[in-house]
Amino acid sequence: MKDLAALKDYILQVYERHRTNHEGQVTTYIPELGKANPDHFGISVVTAQGQEFSVGDSQQEFTIQSICKPLAFLMALEQHGRETTIKHVGMEPSGEAFNSINLDRLNRPFNPMVNAGAISVAALIKGASPEAGVDAFLKRLSLAAGRDLRIDQAVCASEAATGFRNRAIAYLLRNFDMIDDQVDHTLHQYFSQCSVLVNSRDLAMIGATLANIGDNPETHAEVFDMNYIKDALSVMLTCGMYDYSGEWAYNVGLPAKSGVAGGILAVVNRQLSIAVYSPRLDDRGNSVRGIKVCTDLAEEYGLHAFNFTNFGSNFIQAL
Ligand code: GLN
Repeated sequence: MKDLAALKDYILQVYERHRTNHEGQVTTYIPELGKANPDHFGISVVTAQGQEFSVGDSQQEFTIQSICKPLAFLMALEQHGRETTIKHVGMEPSGEAFNSINLDRLNRPFNPMVNAGAISVAALIKGASPEAGVDAFLKRLSLAAGRDLRIDQAVCASEAATGFRNRAIAYLLRNFDMIDDQVDHTLHQYFSQCSVLVNSRDLAMIGATLANIGDNPETHAEVFDMNYIKDALSVMLTCGMYDYSGEWAYNVGLPAKSGVAGGILAVVNRQLSIAVYSPRLDDRGNSVRGIKVCTDLAEEYGLHAFNFTNFGSNFIQAL
């Protein structure tokens, strides 16, 4: 039976294995993100019991970007319930890029993991004022991470100044009454959510909160309503890696979400979470090293949801 020491050892091996991989490019379409150091590489794992292990640049902050999407979706479900929320966003993989301007047969965004869906969700949780909505989101993520998080105002401003495509998506959603007429307020909420600064350890703690059905495993704060965790994990499994989601589900088999700043968060239900930061992205916008790390760990520890050995569920009980 593998134990925590063996897991740590294996993560170190994986870190060494992939740190020399320089494939991919740091994104520049949000100009501020282009300033990232391409060599940064951090891996963190936190279990649903709160044990943790990090290696590399795990203290390096980066913006959460699209990894905010399942968390915002959870807040929308809590505030509005399932019936109302899914009138504004579907749960079907789009098979298209994250910034695709495309709606489903009901004129809804395909799912909450693509930009259109996340903008629709942002409208649902934006609150009474721009400050209130952003503050509520930041507070919730801070509770999940177990420390006070903040917004990278430079990234937020950079995104607001160049986000013409997201603005076009928002107006398309407005045209179909998917969002209300406070379009700028909604976009401010969305850009702010994407600009929350985290490190890989924060992300792994947020993921462990999901793995621990909504409670932070270290502080024991009740962060998310346990009734909706499966909603978020389901769309992460089917839609979380954009147009790589099918291949990811097939090969890795874990609910996950990537962001264009270079973060990837993968969750092993009821067991643990893996977070990787490495800003070089492939052409779909997913971290190259992040995918490799998660793939290796899932294979070594049998973490795939449908793994016949079911080793994943055994190994964690031994920790
Ligand atoms: N803020 C980014 C955008 O809207 C998020 C995209 C991402 O991380 N894939 O373009």
